[in-house]
Amino acid sequence: MTLGNWDHVGRPGASCDGCEATFVELDDFYSLLFMGSDGLSRKEVCPDCYERTADEAFAFWKSTVQPPDASRPRPLDVNFLVEFFERLNAKKDDERQLQICYIVALILIRKKTLIQLPSARNENGEVLRVRFKQDADETVHEIPVPELTADKMELIRDDLGRIFNLQGAGGDKAEAQKSSTPPESTES
Ligand SMILES: [Zn+2]
Repeated sequence: MTLGNWDHVGRPGASCDGCEATFVELDDFYSLLFMGSDGLSRKEVCPDCYERTADEAFAFWKSTVQPPDASRPRPLDVNFLVEFFERLNAKKDDERQLQICYIVALILIRKKTLIQLPSARNENGEVLRVRFKQDADETVHEIPVPELTADKMELIRDDLGRIFNLQGAGGDKAEAQKSSTPPESTES
């Protein structure tokens, strides 16, 4: 799976991945997630490039360019991950999307964004049942539990972790500090 260079995940790079225009502090930018046959990839683009390419993206998230500050932990991309989960959960097009959807749900349970409910069985097998912690109407989402080897599961989890900046050195520390710092992303 080719994922490119995601060093700037959480904050955009110096320039748009589409037209290479320089990002200016407090400008809006969009994170686009593409789901190709060769894997997942992500781009950070300016609003103009977003208009041009959004149709091809599987999910997107709008943020504001923040001034660089090395002392602050890299922001987590949980909001973008939630957007991704909702897209996957709505589509459930193929086996691969179901596998990814299931693993994204597990990550969101660990991040305490989703609450895990007692699982159930339907005619196709076991289903994971979850709801969003902050969802007032307590909608229950059901995700079929895919048949996944531990290796395959690890592979998908690693890819998601890299794309969404959910792991790596200081990941847990950054998470602990998150509650005391204002959110980096601005909801669109
Ligand atoms: Zn651009």
